[in-house]
Amino acid sequence: MSKLEDIVSLCKRRGFVFPGSDIYGGFAGTWDFGPLGVKLKKKMMDAWWNFFVEERDDMYGVDAAILMNPRTWEASGHTATFADPLVECKECKSRFRADKIAEGVSESVTTEEFLATHTKCPVCSKENWGPIRKFNMMFLTHVGAVLPDDDRELADKNIAYLRPETAQGIFTNYKNVVDTFYPDLPFGLAQQGKAFRNEISPRDFILRDRECGQMEIEYFVRPETWEDEFEKVRSLQHEFLEKIVGLPSESIHEYEVPEGDRAHYSKRTIDFMFDYPNGEEELMGLAYRTDFDLSNIARESGKSMDYRDKNTGEVFVPHVIEPSIGVERLFLAILSAAYVEDEVGGGKRVVLKLPENLAPYKFCVSSLLKNKSELVEKARTVYNALKSKYGDVTWDDSGNIGKRYRKQDEIGTPKCVVVDFDTLEDDSVTVRDRDTTEQVRVKISEL
Ligand SMILES: [Zn+2]
Repeated sequence: MSKLEDIVSLCKRRGFVFPGSDIYGGFAGTWDFGPLGVKLKKKMMDAWWNFFVEERDDMYGVDAAILMNPRTWEASGHTATFADPLVECKECKSRFRADKIAEGVSESVTTEEFLATHTKCPVCSKENWGPIRKFNMMFLTHVGAVLPDDDRELADKNIAYLRPETAQGIFTNYKNVVDTFYPDLPFGLAQQGKAFRNEISPRDFILRDRECGQMEIEYFVRPETWEDEFEKVRSLQHEFLEKIVGLPSESIHEYEVPEGDRAHYSKRTIDFMFDYPNGEEELMGLAYRTDFDLSNIARESGKSMDYRDKNTGEVFVPHVIEPSIGVERLFLAILSAAYVEDEVGGGKRVVLKLPENLAPYKFCVSSLLKNKSELVEKARTVYNALKSKYGDVTWDDSGNIGKRYRKQDEIGTPKCVVVDFDTLEDDSVTVRDRDTTEQVRVKISEL
């Protein structure tokens, strides 16, 4: 098994991530987070929110609706251009994203360019392709009491999309926040939420799914200061990734996106790549989006997006720097960095060396023997005390002590606390460390 398969297997076995709609045979490109996955994901997202919003004076949070007026996607260009190059194998009818199966072509690859690469079908190995068609990745739905089959024309008027990115929910609230909070520049709006992309071929576990979490900031700056602000935002991303969620800096690589490959509105983009088990993949993006979005919204809505400087009276449209990170991408990066196989007592051990601030549980408490009521009672007292102090504490009295340690290692619990007969005498417990497997005697009052 590859390391990615090991992680997928651990996620399912220990209740971090299950395939979506598993009971009905799954539903491609969807994943469900189980009890421990929810805990890890929530801690990770809270860490992001605290670092980028709560601890700062220049940041505001928003939480916009997933369903937005379709004019949003006209203004942003998604209706026209949020499309992937779809190509179909005429032999086996499999469909692929042309730019993902051919070497050295971009998303804007033409049929001629694609055919010139002489790519063979990954499924049947033949080379017999249809033309490249543009496939819009937005999920379409209908709003209101319309039966689409009854009245096509009425149905078309009631079209809405599941948002393909969270960013537009931020941009469309820029004016609301400016008019209610009068923030000084630079200031940022942050949002966490779901976005939906009808990926042609979802794959790589949770890396390329059809429903994904995003954590995005639109940081509004004076146009002439964008380069300085870009550098500040850039170094903050490293601080978050390396210090707050503990990714190894040597596994993060910046890729300066060349002009030809950048989105047309961006004057500078850096992709932050991460060494995932199956290769380098994008973890997050950092883009200077100029005033592209606010100007589009001003044109589409007819409302002014001007910002008036309180001191100088100057009026202008701010420019924007956007750090954007995928929730599942960060989640998998954290698991990949934490997943370790080593040897303990001559046997193979799987351990998640999660940072303490992200581990689903800080402590596991158990009684050495589960059929000795005085031990169990004492262990329950310790459990209750730790739970009210730290919150994230779990109880485990399954199997023998060795099996409990293995289980807690696999879910990343940093410390296991065991109550034994000595505890009844001297109020001390055994504390076993996840990473070193060392055991020390500690007074309960010192936990
Ligand atoms: Zn084929």
